[in-house]
Amino acid sequence: MNARHVVGIVMRSAAFGCMLSAATTAMGEAAPAALPASLIEKASALIDADGAHLTTLFKDLHRHPEIAFTETRTAAIVSKQLKSLGFTVTQGIGKTGVVGVLANGPGPTVWFRADMDANAVRETTGLPYAASAKQRLADGSEIDVMHACGHDAHVTWLLGLARAMVAMNGDWSGTLVVYAQPAEEVGLGAQAMVADGLWQRGFPKPDYAFGTHAAPLPVGMVLSSPGVRMAGVDQLDITFHGVGGHGSTPQMTIDPVVMAAQAVLAYQTIISRNMDPQTPAVLSVGSIEAGRDNNVIPQTAVLKLNLRWFTPDVRELMLERIDEIGNGVALAAGVASDAMPTRLMKGNSGPLVNDKALVARVNPSFAALLGQDKVIDQFPAVMGSEDFQEAFASLGTPYAFMLIGVAPPELVAKARASGQQFPYSNHNPDFFVDLAAIPIGAKINTVAVLSVLTNRS
Ligand SMILES: [Zn+2]
Ligand SMILES: [Zn+2]
Repeated sequence: MNARHVVGIVMRSAAFGCMLSAATTAMGEAAPAALPASLIEKASALIDADGAHLTTLFKDLHRHPEIAFTETRTAAIVSKQLKSLGFTVTQGIGKTGVVGVLANGPGPTVWFRADMDANAVRETTGLPYAASAKQRLADGSEIDVMHACGHDAHVTWLLGLARAMVAMNGDWSGTLVVYAQPAEEVGLGAQAMVADGLWQRGFPKPDYAFGTHAAPLPVGMVLSSPGVRMAGVDQLDITFHGVGGHGSTPQMTIDPVVMAAQAVLAYQTIISRNMDPQTPAVLSVGSIEAGRDNNVIPQTAVLKLNLRWFTPDVRELMLERIDEIGNGVALAAGVASDAMPTRLMKGNSGPLVNDKALVARVNPSFAALLGQDKVIDQFPAVMGSEDFQEAFASLGTPYAFMLIGVAPPELVAKARASGQQFPYSNHNPDFFVDLAAIPIGAKINTVAVLSVLTNRS
């Protein structure tokens, strides 16, 4: 998750305290009831009893982070544990993805996702179980790597959920599918699993899907809100093709550096001049790559763009204008018509939209588990993005994606007292998951699944 912006909004929302609606929905109908207290207590006690195992597992995952699409060690741990619990396990979907199926009688099928990948960040937490080894990539290079987005906690919570559901198999009926997804950080893992035949392999199709993500909210809080939550995103490269030459004879060249510079500025008018001011959208140029030497005008210049949007028409408009601006700049520079700038689309996810009925179904049980004041059920949509929903895009599965607090409450209070919104952000080298959040995340996952796999009518 691109979490920095998300967290800023979350903390502002959380600062207003509980926003859980009263016991009616927007439609005025009676809201679904919480799970029976005895069932929540049972799940809670089971996960507490499993606490030492989960904490050991989490520390091990944290110490051994793996970058996108290389999560082989993590995937092997997930597979082994799911198999030992009696799940039917399939590995290697979308390179490293793992799917575990547990059929437990008639009823709906629920899919639950954890992402596995870490970040290219050098950890500075100083934790005794901090990651310290560099990761060697396939090309021989070495990078610092760290779980700076909490995906190690996501995997732990997923396995905690799996263990609790097996132990409670007399209390629910249906099919639970837990899966570990690669490469969320590069926005390609969910689509890689789908492209690798996720829905052609005979797995039971989901009636519902869930995902959870760590956020530096206080431990014990969950953010579970209906409707549009996160923006759609595109990653694309624009290459300007010029004519290279000597830096002393610009008249004999067509300078791609100048074209790229003009385009960067002109792109900024897409949001400010072409878009309805009421429509949220972002266009950022995250990288300019061209040339090497002071006295050589290069052949090409590459701009790396990131787009955020909530509706397909906004996306189309941005892409159209990016092309028009690039072509216009190139024409003005004297580029031949067969050498217009080229656009490489590298990855795309649609907006994340939580199902209203599903959120309404799980939130009363979250309130029963955590306390009514610990569930934030209303906050603004953010420009941050996820690829969780891409797995279900072709199926139209109703889903809910929740944020789980992982920061020590005293650190959050201290940060707020000094005018900060949060003590640290995801992807920061000091990001960490408080160990108290390990059992709580597993409980939130379990309560979400039980909310749809127990017959309470
Ligand atoms: Zn992240
Ligand atoms: Zn993340």
